[in-house]
Amino acid sequence: MTETTFDVIVIGAGPAGYPCAIRAAQNGLKVACIDGWKNRDGKYAFGGTCLNAGCIPSKALLESSELYHRAHAEFAAHGIQVGGLGLDVATMQKRKAGIVKASTQGIAGLFKAAGVTALQGHGRLLAGNRVEYTAGDGSTRALVAKHVVLATGSAPMELKSMPFDGQTIVDSWGALEFEAVPKRLGVIGAGVIGLELGSVWRRLGAEVVVLEALEQFLPMADQAVAKEALKHFRKLGLDIRLGAKVSAAKAGKDGVAVAYTDAKGEQAVTVDKVVVAIGRRPWTKDLLGEGTGVEVDPRGFIQVDHECRTGAGNVWAVGDVVRGPMLAHKGKEEGVMVADLIAGQFSEVNLKLVPSVIYTAPEIAWVGQTEEQVKASGRAYKVGSFPFMASGRARAMEAPAGFAKLIAAQDDDEILGVHVIGPMAGELIAEAVLAMEYSASTEDLQRTIHAHPTLSEGLHEAALAADKRAIDMPNR
Ligand code: FAD
Ligand code: AMP
Repeated sequence: MTETTFDVIVIGAGPAGYPCAIRAAQNGLKVACIDGWKNRDGKYAFGGTCLNAGCIPSKALLESSELYHRAHAEFAAHGIQVGGLGLDVATMQKRKAGIVKASTQGIAGLFKAAGVTALQGHGRLLAGNRVEYTAGDGSTRALVAKHVVLATGSAPMELKSMPFDGQTIVDSWGALEFEAVPKRLGVIGAGVIGLELGSVWRRLGAEVVVLEALEQFLPMADQAVAKEALKHFRKLGLDIRLGAKVSAAKAGKDGVAVAYTDAKGEQAVTVDKVVVAIGRRPWTKDLLGEGTGVEVDPRGFIQVDHECRTGAGNVWAVGDVVRGPMLAHKGKEEGVMVADLIAGQFSEVNLKLVPSVIYTAPEIAWVGQTEEQVKASGRAYKVGSFPFMASGRARAMEAPAGFAKLIAAQDDDEILGVHVIGPMAGELIAEAVLAMEYSASTEDLQRTIHAHPTLSEGLHEAALAADKRAIDMPNR
């Protein structure tokens, strides 16, 4: 078999792989990108988990469900009366599917424009930087590249005692595809995905119970934010049960009985559908042939250094399949970094400043260290917080819940962490990421003009509050 030669072959076209392929082509290299994602209609689609079954469809449904909820619960306060408010889940799902389709087709267009050879099917790395490509019709081709980038992503974890059946017990993708609002929904795991999906269906009218094994709510977040979030989620009607470890599920006439143990002993709750959102695992199935030299750690992650080199000559790995937070933007930056390093340019990714966002209402976002982490580090620090209740813009938006919080070093004023819970937190955090990336001090933020009235003033006032110089609230 003759081998087709490329400078770079990327396996996986999710948010880590496709930007890598595009940047490598921008750098003048001959690039192929192989992707095997197939949607429910059996058709291939680029974009990976993020575009097909993650970030984008979940945000489409979050937006629809938020509008429905606001029409229901908030419009009256604006003096807007909506009689006969109705819900058409089929139309909602159709809108979501349209957004997904436009996004995934967009990637095919971007590949074409950049000159990337887009190959749909399966890629397998063999020794010597050769790649076996199997197309949809089963035919195989031998490819060879100077560099191979593995960007095969992750897959949802299953609870052994309750395997996915695609109908009643589903993964996060299944929970984005419900054709009707379940009357009673069980969500296992109060992580980011569980909370986002639970919020969607709660706002559309489902009774939602969230079972979380840990006693602590959102342990990775600043605990002042976690406490505020728990209060608002419970107010929304999410029945969040902490310290509830799920052990089994049994289907019966009245629904699925989900068994769990908590401090009081054995418990059970009966629901109509269950979403298992207990985390994701790296995906390397059928990826590595004999003798590639690529090493996988005991948890299944491909081992890489800080530049995403695997240790096997000219083989790199990026995104969810390697260490670090499983986030689309983290994978994107790694993909771009690798493409630039391959081209001999300087590049790096600062894993300390990856922003996290939870797209609930109120939204949650943060970057850098939590107050608990700073305290544990022993460094003297100061904190400034500003409640959105004191923001004219937030009040005008009827969205006064939450606050912005900034933590800075006492000695040199360095910003150590910024945490926002409130309207558009995911957008607001970008300013903090930029400030921290440029090593800004609290004083730098204090002296930066923020337009009025905007939500961004909340961050400005939090920076001022760290030195007890806030204007729009009393300093304590
Ligand atoms: P993936 O997106 O998983 O892409 C990997 C691709 O490689 C897939 O298309 C796969 O089919 C393909 N592939 C695998 N093996 C092979 C092979 N051998 N040959 C060919 N192709 C192969 N992250 C955020 O940052 N923001 C969010 O709002 C967000 N929301 C999410 C919501 C949900 C419900 C879920 C499940 C995830 C969410 N994520 C979010 C996480 C985000 O989707 C992932 O971090 C991101 O998709 C990882 O990108 P990746 O390119 O590493 O992998
Ligand atoms: P994440 O890793 O952020 O996606 O969140 C997954 C969540 O699921 C974590 O908070 C885990 O503690 C939780 N979890 C894992 N296994 C179980 C289980 N058997 N029952 C309840 N919660 C679980």
